[in-house]
Amino acid sequence: MTLQVAIIGSGPAGYYTAEALIDQLGDGVRIDLIDRLPTPYGLIRGGVAPDHQSIKGVSRRYEQTSWQPQLRFLGNIEIGDAISISELARLYNVVVLATGAPLDRTLGVPGENLAGVIGSAAFVGWYNSHPDFADLKIDLNVKGVAVIGNGNVAIDVARVLAKTADEMALSDLAPHAAEQIQASQIEDIWVLGRRGPLEASFTPKELGEMGELTHADALADPAQMPPADIDASLDPAQRKVMARLRGFAGNTPSGKPRRVHLRFFCRPVEVLGADRVTGLKVERTIVEAGRAHGSGDFTVLPVGLVIPCIGYRTRPIPGLPFDDSAGRFRNEDGLIQPGVYCVGWARRGPSGTIGTNRPDGIAIAQAIIASAQAGERAGSAGLDALIASRDLWPVTFAGWKRIEAAEEAAAQGPAPRVKFVRVSDMMAAAGPDAALQ
Ligand code: NAP
Repeated sequence: MTLQVAIIGSGPAGYYTAEALIDQLGDGVRIDLIDRLPTPYGLIRGGVAPDHQSIKGVSRRYEQTSWQPQLRFLGNIEIGDAISISELARLYNVVVLATGAPLDRTLGVPGENLAGVIGSAAFVGWYNSHPDFADLKIDLNVKGVAVIGNGNVAIDVARVLAKTADEMALSDLAPHAAEQIQASQIEDIWVLGRRGPLEASFTPKELGEMGELTHADALADPAQMPPADIDASLDPAQRKVMARLRGFAGNTPSGKPRRVHLRFFCRPVEVLGADRVTGLKVERTIVEAGRAHGSGDFTVLPVGLVIPCIGYRTRPIPGLPFDDSAGRFRNEDGLIQPGVYCVGWARRGPSGTIGTNRPDGIAIAQAIIASAQAGERAGSAGLDALIASRDLWPVTFAGWKRIEAAEEAAAQGPAPRVKFVRVSDMMAAAGPDAALQ
């Protein structure tokens, strides 16, 4: 029997699951890897920072998987309205949701719906040319920005705002974002942690880059650093993070035009402003047993832009059980219901690096193989019939390669590519023969 599998979402989790299924089943599997965008690679393309091209290089591995005869990439097909999960479940032995966590978590404080509050999913999508955010209006004509959260997304956002055009020359930063960032009046970027330096989830390399910016000083308050003798008890990565933070705490403003303030023990309580952000009211916190409590000591940061980088949620799919508090599909080791699995952020929430998705994909592949239901399914042929009957226009991997070639040809100087921002432009570049092979 050939196992017919549909994987929805062509980011790292989807690709690693496909790779593991092919490795383990060889010619005994056929996979349709479906994405709602005409382009593959999910967060590698739309989430990883545009100046982190070496991380994006992992897409070469996914490309190899894409050319395997067992796999077919189908972009520009949105599962939901056009084709439902239950239709897919009838066509395939197994459906895997690798749909990530594309929605911003909310702060839950007054004023967070004001213009000038933009969650990291939207902000990162905007500077990464994600078509969902092509029309996002962002006013960077502000002097102060609050970046809320102490994870690597907060660091990415602060760094992209603080870098010069020269420092971004090797990146694929969206031209509309580059133009606005370079023209902006930003002087102060506050990266706010509700807990302390020891609870921050930055990784050393990412935090270290903050100390190497040509136009921005990285600053921290020495009084917020823990006693130095604690460092010996930390694990190696945390020790490196502390070393960098202590370095920032030893810095004084050197006259560079921008300053990045790493401020801890500080939680947002209200976004201020009448119709757009004019400030952020924050409260000093006290951390006890790992939890931050308010101290009743409030200050206002003079910011015109607030970017919460506080985690993400998976988009629910009607009919599938969803854990609303965790923001992901309700699942048991990836199993949502017989024949329907989830993997990556859709399974475990927004944690880990790109590489974490590889063991996750292998584990899901093993679970699928262990409990796969026998029975002939229409698979790709059935999907093709549905697509043909619904006036849908899938983009094959060959079509994506034409999009990629056009983006690379548009690059100026050392930049790797200029990404299309509009789906219509991607479809035009994919070409009129963007039909099923
Ligand atoms: P993260 O590491 O979980 O950080 C989220 C931050 O938001 C935490 O500091 C958290 O504080 C804070 N937070 C949550 N709710 C808050 C609230 N209501 N008010 C104030 N602060 C709040 O998540 P992330 O930065 O979104 O990154 C997601 C994953 O992608 C992580 O595993 C990250 O390492 C990875 N990533 C990796 C790279 C890279 O390797 N270059 C780049 C980007 C992202 P508490 O700790 O107090 O909850």
